[in-house]
Amino acid sequence: MQTSYLRQRWLLPQLLLATLLLACAQSPEQDARSLIPIQSANDEKSYRYLILENGLRTLLISDPQTEKAAAALDVYVGSASNPADRGGLAHFLEHMLFLGTEKYPDAAEYEEFVTEHGGSHNAYTAFEHTNYFFDIDHAQLESALDRFAQFFISPKFDAQYVEREVKAVQAEYQLGIKTDARRNLDVYREVVNPQHPASILGVGTTETLADRPDAPIRDDLLDFYRQYYSANLMALVVLGRQNLDELEALVRPMFKPVPNHQRKIA
Ligand SMILES: [Zn+2]
Repeated sequence: MQTSYLRQRWLLPQLLLATLLLACAQSPEQDARSLIPIQSANDEKSYRYLILENGLRTLLISDPQTEKAAAALDVYVGSASNPADRGGLAHFLEHMLFLGTEKYPDAAEYEEFVTEHGGSHNAYTAFEHTNYFFDIDHAQLESALDRFAQFFISPKFDAQYVEREVKAVQAEYQLGIKTDARRNLDVYREVVNPQHPASILGVGTTETLADRPDAPIRDDLLDFYRQYYSANLMALVVLGRQNLDELEALVRPMFKPVPNHQRKIA
């Protein structure tokens, strides 16, 4: 039997997996047929798959019992798309994205809002995916989702936080140096074909993310964002207590402005 604890414990992992599957699907039409979960008799949730006007693939999950609402957005781009001389650029962008938008310019506001309402948020950058996610008290879904959507509509990438976040990336790099997982990865990078993107450092350092005379790091970040952060390369999953019609009425207007540049998967 699924206890309340287990239900909440597996909330975000389930959402992250769903966004990955949606983002990787061959075509939006295929998604509709194959990605609505086959429900067990014990699954009381209901599901709806949508493709928004801008091509954003969206899965809505209504769970009238849930204590927390949650959302995850996957962008089908990751470290594999880092320029050869800019290891860590996708990861650095992931750090900078959360730091204020035109609508909510205060860089700390999102984190404060989520934690004040019993939630958590995070993101990760993998080889082919970058994933952003949060959970929050179920009554605050609309407010949290509005903040979250703006990161993909009008992020500020405020120049005043560039240096701080480059240092945060460097700290992550140093923290991982002694872990087995990082050592395995470093060996792999040494032996793989140097022409393959797997040979490029994924996490980044103060060296790979340094300003250069002809290329400030923020300019390279903006180029990367414009190149790959396109609605047709994204997938969104939203879970809340609301019924499916109510969830759809929330999500459509919030995410419709995410620009679609019709990008191809790199
Ligand atoms: Zn990081």
